Amino acid sequence: MKCPRCSSTQIRKNGYRESKQNYICVKCGRQFLDTYSVKGYSQTVREECLNLYKDGMALRAIERATGVCHNTVINWVRQAGLPPKKEKKPAGDPSQPSKPKSHRGYPLELRQQCLAMYRQGMSLREVARSKGVSHNTVCKWLKADAIASSTATDTSENSESTH
Ligand SMILES: [Zn+2]
Repeated sequence: MKCPRCSSTQIRKNGYRESKQNYICVKCGRQFLDTYSVKGYSQTVREECLNLYKDGMALRAIERATGVCHNTVINWVRQAGLPPKKEKKPAGDPSQPSKPKSHRGYPLELRQQCLAMYRQGMSLREVARSKGVSHNTVCKWLKADAIASSTATDTSENSESTH
């Protein structure tokens, strides 16, 4: 088991919260629940993905919208007992192989570099300028990324107010 904030493996048990095992990171003091550490995504993200899926959204579209890998979403869909869906190929248009319109054509690598630079303390505009990506695009990536990594914040508020 790892700390969701600093990835340290020095974890101590820290009592129970809502009948779930609560843990605390020895290194950074982050508290988190057993369930959150299992998959790396919070229940909220998972439910959001499943809802999008039920609404008929394609797995790849969910991946783009939430930043959760489509393989992970498939697993959740199976676990939830939802019927697997065949991704339809747009029939009769071989000149345009299922390329989504909303995709700006930035490689995933570039996106990850931008996010890494932002995490290292660069401002949004600096990242955008140095990579030649539009400010709005970086902003969008950050939002998508924030949904995926919201596990890092959604329990800390509760735990810090219980002193
Ligand atoms: Zn930690």
